[in-house]
Amino acid sequence: MAVRPLVEASRPAPLPDFSLNPLNDRSLPITRAWLQEYSRLEAKPGLPAGVSAKDIIRKTKNREVLTRAEIFGWVNDFVTGAVPDYQMSSWMAFLTSRDHHGDFERWSDEETIDLTLAMAASGDLLDLDYLGVVADKHSSGGVGDKTSLVVVPLVAACGVRVGKMSGRGLGHTGGTLDKLDSIPGFDTRLSMELFLQITQEVGLVITGQTGELAPADGKMYALRDVTETVDCIPLIAASIMSKKIASGTNTLVLDVTVGSGAFMKNEEDAERLAKIMVSIGKSLGMKVIAEISDMDQPRGLAVGNSLEVLEAINTLKFEGPPDFTEHCIETAARIVHLAGKTETYNDAKAMVTAAFGGWFRYHALEKFREMIIAQGGNGNVVDRPEEILSIAKGRYEVKAAQDGYLSGINAENVGLASMKLGGGRAKKGDEIDYAVGVLLAPNTKFGTFVHAGDVLFEVVSDDPDTSDKVMAAKALLESAIGYSKTNLRHPVLSSGGQVIR
Ligand code: URA
Repeated sequence: MAVRPLVEASRPAPLPDFSLNPLNDRSLPITRAWLQEYSRLEAKPGLPAGVSAKDIIRKTKNREVLTRAEIFGWVNDFVTGAVPDYQMSSWMAFLTSRDHHGDFERWSDEETIDLTLAMAASGDLLDLDYLGVVADKHSSGGVGDKTSLVVVPLVAACGVRVGKMSGRGLGHTGGTLDKLDSIPGFDTRLSMELFLQITQEVGLVITGQTGELAPADGKMYALRDVTETVDCIPLIAASIMSKKIASGTNTLVLDVTVGSGAFMKNEEDAERLAKIMVSIGKSLGMKVIAEISDMDQPRGLAVGNSLEVLEAINTLKFEGPPDFTEHCIETAARIVHLAGKTETYNDAKAMVTAAFGGWFRYHALEKFREMIIAQGGNGNVVDRPEEILSIAKGRYEVKAAQDGYLSGINAENVGLASMKLGGGRAKKGDEIDYAVGVLLAPNTKFGTFVHAGDVLFEVVSDDPDTSDKVMAAKALLESAIGYSKTNLRHPVLSSGGQVIR
């Protein structure tokens, strides 16, 4: 089929109107049209004359405000290689440290918005409006967060197109792309043309940043993962929203996680992140909302790449863990409602719930199969996941040390345990072992009563019980658990998970 040409490669790139150049004047708003023209420039401007990479790092360290031209130039010079990885890493470290030190030190929202736009325009900008509604969801990260694998097919089964650009694992959290990479043959590095073609013809697609779309995020993301510069609100907001702008999403639900397994450890920070992302989306004409969701314990029962794909498939068969299934229904319903498919959110919930089963049982599962096949993967994985996915055979139990109510399951520790087993990267470019991870017992959830000796976790690995990896994972899991004599109220989300519009 004919794919609508996106970028007329032969057309000489028109220059933005430099008499009204928003790069030189922050009071001029950057519009989508301006950004589109800017993204097509063959050679984008680097740092302004007389400003060096060291100046940018020093200014950030000293809490001086960066101009828009400096931020755009800084991002461009990083993408072309004029700014090396070590200078970008140092800059991101100062920004992260400032973000942790309270209001006075923080980067301004204007600077965060400019960083986002510069990163979005570092490659091509898709415009999908000719396809009507193209929806997306994005989580700010978590442990066991395979929500996209379930929500994307559910939403597509309700007749809403989804063109999604995801990320890889960051820090202790897993990434949707790494999970999908565990499906044999699945291609998460689609060209722009294929991304468009699958969005148009199949109605759902999940891919990653490429050299063409949001390349700045691809490069910064890989550095952040291994330089402890992940939990920084400006960097998270810019990373997420630059991908959404570049991939042409016009209808977006953001899942901002909060708790021990999230990058936002308290509700106040989660709200701050949600608000800035919503305002960036709105400023470019997106329909966008953010839900604040609980990540104080792992989501579902599986943590690790292949294990999470297996749990997602079971959930699409309506045989998944209740907490995770409920979260998927709610998120999918918010997208379906925002996309205008139903009058009310409750109608959307009913529609999404029907997409699991009833007379069209496995409808959403079939959409998942279609997406896998369109992206080169083995579609039989939805029928025989345990056979097709690579899952380690070794199981090592971690048991409750005492009787009591579970008053904490530190999700970050669980994520780190999976990483130690080989399920995440310790340094840039590390190979991932898709087969390993951690399984929670069904009762390993906040507030359940356990007896000493009950199995709480299973470490999934083919390494021996006495190996450094398995021992380190077990130690992390043992220290993840808190016990109490009474059943405590869940500490996070006093607001019950509000929605920011
Ligand atoms: N997801 C992203 O894409 N980027 C982040 O920084 C965090 C979560």
